Amino acid sequence: MTANGPQTVSTSGSSDGSTDVGMTDDPPLGSPRVDDPVIMSRDLDVYYGDDQALHGIDMDIPERQVTALIGPSGCGKSTFLRSINRMNDLIDIARVEGDLYFRGKNVYDEDVDPVALRRKIGMVFQTPNPFPKSIRDNVAYGLKVQGKDDDVDEQIHKALERAALLEEVEDQLDSSGLDLSGGQQQRLCIARAIAPDPEVILMDEPASALDPIATSKIEDLIEDLAEEYTVVIVTHNMQQAARISDKTAVFLTGGHLVEFDDTNELFENPESDRVEDYITGKFG
Ligand code: ADP
Repeated sequence: MTANGPQTVSTSGSSDGSTDVGMTDDPPLGSPRVDDPVIMSRDLDVYYGDDQALHGIDMDIPERQVTALIGPSGCGKSTFLRSINRMNDLIDIARVEGDLYFRGKNVYDEDVDPVALRRKIGMVFQTPNPFPKSIRDNVAYGLKVQGKDDDVDEQIHKALERAALLEEVEDQLDSSGLDLSGGQQQRLCIARAIAPDPEVILMDEPASALDPIATSKIEDLIEDLAEEYTVVIVTHNMQQAARISDKTAVFLTGGHLVEFDDTNELFENPESDRVEDYITGKFG
């Protein structure tokens, strides 16, 4: 850990430096929200080749709340999101410097297995991307890859129910996931992401390809999921951030985190003029 790293580890974590990233005793479901951060970034820089996309990001993301990342296009929101579960590893020219802690363990330590990390920190993308398989197999995928295939049917039902999709698809679990509407496909992707029982769900503009009704369902679902999971969402839609998030981070051009606060406070009383200009629509 660096000098400005976390002083304490919030709950179960691997503060002893062991390699069990995320492989810890999860906090009991339904237990009260805690304010300790589950994810912390410290002086995080991300480069694509010679271009620096993020500059010295410090952020504490609280457990079981919705944290929204907002800001104009190209300011590094998706880059930051992907750095949390090391999805940037999949981009050849991406390079990360600084520290990113998940429950006190630096996810960039050499002994961290990114695949195990991504089971604990799942991801949902902008365009719904179900596999060309049945609804059942889409949800089962996450369970099977980690060998959790006992009681698969029960777990599939549970994940679909949690993603507010079960009622609509209960009688067609063997139909293709691609035959669903866009909004249903996105909820299927959410079911797939939560089936392996992650702690954190990262969402990159999950409703931007959807119509208003489907968007509203996804927004309700996100708020609901935050009772059990820590949710971090990138959105270009400020009203959406204001509606559903507990915390908001504003990134501005050049990849700087300019403000991070409780959502109500940030929208009602932004500290910086640049953030005020952005949220009042003067640019962006
Ligand atoms: P946002 O999510 O806020 O729109 P991004 O994180 O996508 O911003 O992009 C931040 C910066 O990094 C932009 O300048 C973008 O062009 C660059 N960038 C993003 N992804 C890549 C990539 N795969 N290769 C090269 N540059 C990238």
